[in-house]
Amino acid sequence: MNTALAPAPLVDRFGRVHTSLRVSVTDRCNIRCAYCMPATGVKFLPRNEILSFEEITRFVRILSAHGVRKVRLTGGEPLVRHNLSELVSQLAALPDVEEIALTTNGMLLADQAEALKTAGLDRLNISLDTLREAKFEQISRRTGLDQVLAGIASAEAAGFEGTRLNATSLRGFTEEEIIPLAEFALERGLELRFIEYMPLDAGHTWSHEQVLTGSEVLRRLGERFGELMPVEREDSSQPAVDYTVPGGGRIGFINSVSEPFCGDCNRLRLTAEGQVRNCLFSTIEYDARVLLRNGASDEELAQLVADAVAAKLPGHAINDESFLRPQRAMYQIGG
Ligand code: SAM
Ligand code: SF4
Repeated sequence: MNTALAPAPLVDRFGRVHTSLRVSVTDRCNIRCAYCMPATGVKFLPRNEILSFEEITRFVRILSAHGVRKVRLTGGEPLVRHNLSELVSQLAALPDVEEIALTTNGMLLADQAEALKTAGLDRLNISLDTLREAKFEQISRRTGLDQVLAGIASAEAAGFEGTRLNATSLRGFTEEEIIPLAEFALERGLELRFIEYMPLDAGHTWSHEQVLTGSEVLRRLGERFGELMPVEREDSSQPAVDYTVPGGGRIGFINSVSEPFCGDCNRLRLTAEGQVRNCLFSTIEYDARVLLRNGASDEELAQLVADAVAAKLPGHAINDESFLRPQRAMYQIGG
């Protein structure tokens, strides 16, 4: 008789079961979005500090034995990491991983979509804040909206289904983009999600006043399309609240600031240099890289993650006076 106990699921003090892992594969990026990175003088991690594909795959394998089923690759811009589809193949070979997704700015997608699909990537989220080149340059401090649009077209051509567009919303800056983005997504049968601006910009200039709330975006969409109706959540841990649009299509809202969803959070994060984080806003990290590189056992790595889970706080407290924002910006953590 096999008396071995199944590895324990990753449950925290509040009963949240962690089944989702976001893996940042690089802190580098080919653009410089103002809400994420500094305009100039970015100091990227030296290559030897970044986890190898084999180290990432081992880490994911260990977590998958403890119940992690979904892996999202992010960054920085994940597609600037050389040969990313090789990592996707390695992860796709792990029997307990059910879904591999990728969040990208789309700039390099046209060249890689097919290889990623063949390697076993299941889903894509593509960031798109505007359909106007001049605005794109203001936001990203680079040219290249055409490349992003080509990337979106290539996702469909490569056979990806359920591709989502993510638009980050800033008050006084992105209101005019709302309706054109919605029309663009609805015409193509793509789901669109509006994300509230969070205090993770490199310049540390975020303020509550700059948050264009999901409810405000919803109101403007209602004026154009008629009243949107909320969709019942299939999965309580999903961060977005989705609505159906009269006439067809879906639009979602990630209202991280105005309506925090921490109570249902099932996510863990691994930074590009192998630090485990239990929250986007955590100020504490757990060093998996030192264990991965010093011959630690699978059990020791699993214990490190269990410690991170056990220490998870009930919520991010952005709206509390006591809120301490993390020193690291979004591109350094993995969005
Ligand atoms: N480079 C890829 C991209 O842009 O899709 C993946 C990483 S990026 C950090 C992931 C997402 O985070 C993007 O949709 C981006 O718009 C969003 N993001 C970055 N900084 C943000 C902030 N301060 N508040 C809200 N969303 C942010
Ligand atoms: Fe790069 Fe994504 Fe950050 Fe924009 S949001 S600077 S694309 S990592």
